[in-house]
Amino acid sequence: MKWLPGQPVVDARTPALKARLERARARLGRAPKLRVFLVGEDPASHIYVEMKRKRGIALGVEVEVVRLSSGSTAPTLWSLITQANQDPSVDGILIQRPLPFAAEAPGAPGLQEWVSASKDVDAFHPFHLGRLGQGEPQITACTPAGIMALLDHYEIELEGRLACVVGRSPLVGQPMGLALLNRSATLIQCHRKTERLSALTRQADLLVVAAGSRGLITAQHVKPGAVVVDVGIHKKSQGGITGDVLADEVSKIAAQMTPVPGGVGPLTVHFLFENLVTLTEARDPISGVTRLYTERA
Ligand code: NAD
Repeated sequence: MKWLPGQPVVDARTPALKARLERARARLGRAPKLRVFLVGEDPASHIYVEMKRKRGIALGVEVEVVRLSSGSTAPTLWSLITQANQDPSVDGILIQRPLPFAAEAPGAPGLQEWVSASKDVDAFHPFHLGRLGQGEPQITACTPAGIMALLDHYEIELEGRLACVVGRSPLVGQPMGLALLNRSATLIQCHRKTERLSALTRQADLLVVAAGSRGLITAQHVKPGAVVVDVGIHKKSQGGITGDVLADEVSKIAAQMTPVPGGVGPLTVHFLFENLVTLTEARDPISGVTRLYTERA
């Protein structure tokens, strides 16, 4: 069994990302800026934001964290995000989830449309999901983008292979399935209502698990020789983290597998900044207008 760590993929992609960020800095006359909204006191969210901030600093990106207490309201957040959407000094915006309140404010659309598509580094906006569904993404949500980069780095064949994604959330499972379809994999997409899960997952050459259910995938869910990508993150009571896949038993059956920690996580953080630079490159620094279409030769 071969482990598929994420860090070598990040390391391989970092020089090109740094060069793009350097060009963006020269064009803008300042460092590209990511504004992160962190609401409430959820400890995991604070850790994730700190990881993103540190990585941004290492890459020469200005990461500005706006902290709001859990007593703040959805209309306050909506108004701050609207300001950031219009602020030409802000290149990318991220709302760290989960939010401690329902994202409902008078006159506001659904949360997925709060951050304008031109600054939405998470690719949560329907524009980005729609473009992905049409096979022409401008950017893809960070976790599936990172997984695709990992699969390519380790030269895992996708075309014609049977891929199974467990989970269909708008930031992970759903765009993951679309990205695999775009590479001509054959797709089985499973979710909470799926019946006979193991009968489906066991057919897959590539199994991507993003269910948020600790240890959901056991040896009996996995086809011998399959490639397994574990997206899940769960805190262990004795410290450390573990995934959605029971690694001890599945590693005896799979041919290749991502570890938790050290698999998908570093790539998710990395792609935040690949997405930031892609959106920054698409924006005219003078007019502030972002080209959201694909130019054809
Ligand atoms: P989510 O709760 O929004 O979605 C979970 C999805 O899994 C849903 O579509 C649900 O229908 C499906 N599901 C849940 N239980 C299932 C079951 N028993 N059988 C089949 N399907 C089931 O979660 P999410 O945001 O997509 O994240 C999933 C997991 O990935 C979480 O553990 C999260 O912490 C982790 N995550 C990790 C990274 C990373 O960088 N490694 C990034 C994002 C999310």
